[in-house]
Amino acid sequence: MSKLPNITTSIFTVMSKMAAEYNAINLSQGFPNFPVDEKLTDIVAQLAKEDVHQYTPMAGFPPLLNKIASLVQKSYNRTIQPETEILITAGATQGIYSSIQALVGSGDEVIILDPSYDSYEPNVLLSGGIPVRIPLNDDYTPNWDLIEKGCNDNTKMIVITNPHNPTGKILSMTDIERLESILAKFPKIILLSDEVYEYITFEQKHLSIHTRPALRNRAIITASFGKSFHITGWKIGYVVAPEHLMKEIKKVHQFLVFSVNSISQAAISQYLDYVSVEEISPFYQQKRDYFQKLLSNSRFELMPCEGTYFQVVSYKAISDENDVDFCKRLIIEHGVAAIPISTFYENGKDLRLIRFCFAKDNATLEEAARRLCAI
Ligand code: GLN
Repeated sequence: MSKLPNITTSIFTVMSKMAAEYNAINLSQGFPNFPVDEKLTDIVAQLAKEDVHQYTPMAGFPPLLNKIASLVQKSYNRTIQPETEILITAGATQGIYSSIQALVGSGDEVIILDPSYDSYEPNVLLSGGIPVRIPLNDDYTPNWDLIEKGCNDNTKMIVITNPHNPTGKILSMTDIERLESILAKFPKIILLSDEVYEYITFEQKHLSIHTRPALRNRAIITASFGKSFHITGWKIGYVVAPEHLMKEIKKVHQFLVFSVNSISQAAISQYLDYVSVEEISPFYQQKRDYFQKLLSNSRFELMPCEGTYFQVVSYKAISDENDVDFCKRLIIEHGVAAIPISTFYENGKDLRLIRFCFAKDNATLEEAARRLCAI
């Protein structure tokens, strides 16, 4: 018997594998292809010779927990307790899984927006919970009226992604205030705020739940060093939650991974003294603008991209195929891999939209755009 009968291999695995098979430029799964900061690799090389190879404490390497508390203080003016409110996780994915396993039980409803990142729903199903999908508006803003209607006494959690993957939408102050007013009416609901692209926002500033006193004491907030420092393969991120929730999350974490690999924790804790997170958004804004300019001569229509390193485009002017078939043909015939947006929907809504990752060096973006403009 399958515990997840309707879940198939993640689209990121499928598309990256196919891109490799056909030697296509891989703009599907989100990961950078440019070199990591030499400062970070120097730190790792030095640390490899030091005594950092055994288990760290379960919740994380204490110096890293302290540095994260300082980062959150500096970025969002929030004071958090390193020992009780932070957990280092093997990527945000593990933090999300552990949080949902720890806090959602059989029959609990969890509101997940539609479209959404692909891991939330299977996580809820494995915990015995009931995913309740609420469609976003056509412009990808949350439909707060529908969300409010979806909340009831069985609702245990609302999951939001801000900035949003795959659409690149970010929440406005009006959105956050609506969320606050809804949650004020449902004091038992926990907010899971997935903010892994927190440092990749463009014209509009990121509004973190860290900055909202009414929400943060009932919220689990996830972060990703992979996204922020171009090291997705390190699989390291963290969760911030108030102590009463964190105590439960740690119970799952300790029997899932016990602790996260030590050398990356030590390396990041040193690197945080050198790196400036304010430089990440301008860096990616240049990439977004460059990629958009390169595609402006193509038949793809560019959707707004307010944050993340993903550009969604419509191929309506090119083909009537569904987006999965189109993505496959794009790889085989044109040598570029993308992610079909339908896979982020509960029922595979096909809007002729695909997602490109622009976290690539300029030569890669130029060659990809040359191929895409020829279609
Ligand atoms: N978050 C990445 C993306 O959206 C993928 C992560 C993964 O492959 N699991 O592309």
